[in-house]
Amino acid sequence: MSLLELDDVKVHFPVKKGVLFDRTVGHVYAVDGISLSVSAGQTYGLVGESGCGKTTLGRAVLRLVDITDGEVVFDGTDLAKLPEEEMRRFRRRLQMVFQDPLGSLNPRQNIESILSEGMAAHGIGANQEERREKIKAILTRVGLPANALSRYPHEFSGGQRQRIGIARALVLEPDVIICDEPVSALDVSIQAQVINLLEELQEQLGLTYLVIAHDLAVVRHISDVIGVMYLGSLVEEAPSDALYASPRHPYTKALMSAVPVPDPDIEDRRERILLRGDLPSPADPPAGCRFHTRCPWAQPGKCATERPGLTDLGDGHKVACHFAKEIEDGTVQRGDES
Ligand code: SF4
Repeated sequence: MSLLELDDVKVHFPVKKGVLFDRTVGHVYAVDGISLSVSAGQTYGLVGESGCGKTTLGRAVLRLVDITDGEVVFDGTDLAKLPEEEMRRFRRRLQMVFQDPLGSLNPRQNIESILSEGMAAHGIGANQEERREKIKAILTRVGLPANALSRYPHEFSGGQRQRIGIARALVLEPDVIICDEPVSALDVSIQAQVINLLEELQEQLGLTYLVIAHDLAVVRHISDVIGVMYLGSLVEEAPSDALYASPRHPYTKALMSAVPVPDPDIEDRRERILLRGDLPSPADPPAGCRFHTRCPWAQPGKCATERPGLTDLGDGHKVACHFAKEIEDGTVQRGDES
């Protein structure tokens, strides 16, 4: 059963101009009609290059940005329409782990103070003594010594600071954790340790994750389902194995062709798919398929005029491309090959 369900979520930021910035002259279409569903205990990986709207979507789920339209249904309640007062009740159950562990931890507070702040605000623990005991248990669970309590963020390594960020989410006993680029600020050697920790915690505590990353290699092993975002929209969604075995959207194919082969002894025979141009501005997205200005398979007519919706190809594999079938069959040609 779905614990978190997004239906046609839009986040459009107004672009203001004028002396007092009170004149709206346009919009940035950061998230433009995303629907997805995450079951309890599942991990949904959301990938795309920076600027595609994935972080904004994560923040929209927590109502840290205004939702322009659509529904964010968590455990049967549409958070998008909740008054702020009622939203507070749900905040404890939906937590976020941020990309930059140091930037998200107050350098002037020790770890006990950082972790107990949210607990006190949400009424967890009858007193500080109780909260301290719970924090100690959580620190052990995330692989940090109990004496970390009295230390400050700068005394820890990057990987340890991310463990503190995870502990800060866990002390609030959440159901869902949104991990926004949880390892991209860390050394490659530490990344696997943090990903493994997230997996262990999920198994032990039955957590549900939305993992946001620009790197397909990061979400591959941890995700049950992966959604690929481009310019505010989902262009492909599939169970993790199916997406890797058979990417169907041209953008996913291009992303996948850039993922390095993990074993240096294996010869990489894959053809690199290079995208032309830069990511268009979300303030002025192209008409039709938003990817048509960069797509190697773009066809005259339809690609530039009709926006494709996500179509289910079966077994939960969905793709937003007018020519997904023909590209698979080889009956449409790549423009960059002729
Ligand atoms: Fe490329 Fe056209 Fe498919 Fe868009 S609809 S991904 S432009 S082939």
